Amino acid sequence: MIIILLGPPGAGKGTIAQELNKKMEIPIIATGDILRNAIKEETDLGKKVKKYVNSGKLVPDNYVMKIVENRIRKEDCQRGFIFDGFPRTIHQADDLDLLIKHLNKNINQVFYFEASYKVIVERLSARRVCLQCGTIYNLNYNPPDIIDKCNQCGGELIQRDDDKEETIRRRLEIYHKETLPLVDYYQKKNILTKIDADQDVEVRFKKLWDRLIELGLTESK
Ligand code: AMP
Repeated sequence: MIIILLGPPGAGKGTIAQELNKKMEIPIIATGDILRNAIKEETDLGKKVKKYVNSGKLVPDNYVMKIVENRIRKEDCQRGFIFDGFPRTIHQADDLDLLIKHLNKNINQVFYFEASYKVIVERLSARRVCLQCGTIYNLNYNPPDIIDKCNQCGGELIQRDDDKEETIRRRLEIYHKETLPLVDYYQKKNILTKIDADQDVEVRFKKLWDRLIELGLTESK
């Protein structure tokens, strides 16, 4: 089972991915998390991509494709996986198609989360992420019990560098130019479902889950 979560930063893809992961027990591949970890660990890759990630620009396709290729060949991806934040360009989508064909698999469904500018900025500026386990909080809707501490693991909660207002604006511009064309791309392949991302997470997840049931994709768990 291969699912892609597509949408602007702040559409809540990460939160939905966590819910889906609990239900379907297939791993989340969030290229943004992998890149942030590489930066934190100061790996060779981390050093090369830091300037792009911190300024809200897209990391060049060749780095991202290498990450994805290595990740989906791992044992835990045999039953499928959820892409969060990938692909982000037509070029990545084309490369992914080739990669997936090569593995004799196919993309089952792409969920496109459409969100208004107001909601995106509200969500991103109130977002806090656990440095240790990646759990996502929102100071307004889903705050941690203790300020700056993760409920799950006690790790430190931070605001991502690229969630500051001026960088949000740049990320959205890039999203419109580079990533939005993927909506058309997957619509033409007849595998796209649109979800209103301004709604609460419960409503969004129910819509997604109902669609998976409708497509007969929940039985393959
Ligand atoms: P995210 O956590 O998905 O918002 O990603 C954070 C940042 O990581 C982005 O602003 C990009 O700099 C980089 N990034 C994540 N995924 C990709 C991708 N598929 N292609 C290029 N850059 C990416």
